Amino acid sequence: MTQKKSSTLAALGEFGLISRITARVTPHESVITGIGDDAAVTALTPGMRLLTSTDMLLEDVHFRRAWHDPFTLGRKSLAVSISDIAAMGGIPHWALLSLAIPPDLPLDFIDDLMRGFQEVATEYNVTLIGGDTCSSRNGLTISVTIMGEQYPDLIVRRSGAQPDDDIWVTGTLGDAAFALSQLENGTAVSESLLSRLLNPAPRVSVALAFAEAGLATAMIDVSDGIRADFGHIADMSGVGGTLRVDDLPLSGMFRSVTADLGAIPFEYALTGGEDYELCFTARNSNREKIVACAKKCGVAATRVGIVTSFSGVTVITRDGTPCTAPFNGFNHFT
Ligand code: ADP
Ligand code: MG
Repeated sequence: MTQKKSSTLAALGEFGLISRITARVTPHESVITGIGDDAAVTALTPGMRLLTSTDMLLEDVHFRRAWHDPFTLGRKSLAVSISDIAAMGGIPHWALLSLAIPPDLPLDFIDDLMRGFQEVATEYNVTLIGGDTCSSRNGLTISVTIMGEQYPDLIVRRSGAQPDDDIWVTGTLGDAAFALSQLENGTAVSESLLSRLLNPAPRVSVALAFAEAGLATAMIDVSDGIRADFGHIADMSGVGGTLRVDDLPLSGMFRSVTADLGAIPFEYALTGGEDYELCFTARNSNREKIVACAKKCGVAATRVGIVTSFSGVTVITRDGTPCTAPFNGFNHFT
């Protein structure tokens, strides 16, 4: 490497950029061969299964450069992938990062993006083991593949919910969606709500704790709103469910910024995406254990409904009457 700092991607080139990315990585001991060969070589824990998930973040579909600074975008791109491993009760370990980069993107942007990515990688003990780099004619695309592990008996799928199970959710819902609506309206956004949107925290430790204690019968991370995401659990489990709208956990900030709207805008909590909380189901005999387990991990867990033997997800108000939500959660093709 020369002392002179290359300030553009063109000067650095594809391989210069890969070296620059590699320089930031401190491989975990499970990584036998990391970035640089044709394929990475990793050591699996005997007896565990490999969990793999991939996600794409497209400019102007999933993020806007005007709203997402590169550092938090780098954080979020890995955090949302880690959330998928968490939702299976898995332990995240390895990531692949593929970038399609507009040639005029400032090198500083990539540097900041990688700083954010690496910060989350360090926080969750994930090693970047490879990826792909190419140029894009249509905005920045970030694709992250995440791999993790878990013992077969501890993996929590979407398909395990049973009638009469409780429906639970961690943390609070609606913060990210409300922040997004404020950004879209051009109104001032509260910092704490904005950070829920831009800098989500995957619920790895509490998910692992539930998995290890055998407490969750089914689990999913909430990326499209709890109504839609619980709907995936219901479909995969061949059951239905009733969600009690008044029980949906809302943050103090959400309550305060929406206080002058007249009614509480539950639709953000019900159908707003990107909270990255966990929605899970559990036997009703495990209520105390779940609350204690979540508390130990520093996260709240709230019961928000009941699994039913008949299909369909119904949302009810306090007096038991069904309420009709204005929309169904985020869907890319509608
Ligand atoms: P190949 O031509 O065999 O696909 P590449 O030249 O694309 O190899 O990549 C060289 C090495 O750099 C590989 O180990 C690959 O996994 C890694 N790599 C490429 N792009 C990235 C990236 N954006 N982040 C991390 N590793 C990368
Ligand atoms: Mg390649």
